[in-house]
Amino acid sequence: MDIEKKVWEVLCSEEEIQMRTRELGAEITDAYTDKNLFVVSLLRGSFVFAADLVRRIDLKLKVDFMTSSSYEHGEESSGTVQILKDIEEDLTGFDVLVVDDIADSGLTMGCVIKHLKTKNPNSVKSCVLLDKPSRRKVDLEPDYIGFTIPDRFVVGYGLNYGDYYRNVPYVFVVTDQDR
Ligand code: 5GP
Ligand code: MG
Repeated sequence: MDIEKKVWEVLCSEEEIQMRTRELGAEITDAYTDKNLFVVSLLRGSFVFAADLVRRIDLKLKVDFMTSSSYEHGEESSGTVQILKDIEEDLTGFDVLVVDDIADSGLTMGCVIKHLKTKNPNSVKSCVLLDKPSRRKVDLEPDYIGFTIPDRFVVGYGLNYGDYYRNVPYVFVVTDQDR
């Protein structure tokens, strides 16, 4: 489908995302004040959100990146999650916050948390910009959630359609209507 020819419905505007990210940053700052925060951003989907979020966290912190297999070109999760790029550091003594764009089935976040726990951190928590709880296949409740959304395929602010549109500064859904 050529989504350029369809009407895009904004689900989370730039202003809403900015406001919510500021709130989350303040909450995380409070919660991790006496901790040793290590942010793990999941590529590629969370790169925009993570970049904005860490600048709203007023603490000394580390950031690293992981890549896991996800939807790739289809819209349905394959059910298996593979780690394609791991973080490079030992997590001993750190309080890890895994940041992702969206929790859908929960498989990605669940698998990444389980994997990072083997690296001896003090704690591992999760933060997602978007949560689609109606799609959950595993028992996972993100610790920090930007927005809870209905079961729609969303694009923008890091989330892709095919390999494109990650740079759109807001989150939208593609409607059936022609422009
Ligand atoms: P999960 O493992 O929770 O099923 O899915 C996590 C990953 O699937 C997300 O990090 C994201 O890359 C992708 N994903 C899930 N839902 C959507 C969606 O609505 N739009 C896009 N673009 N990607 C999604
Ligand atoms: Mg992803």
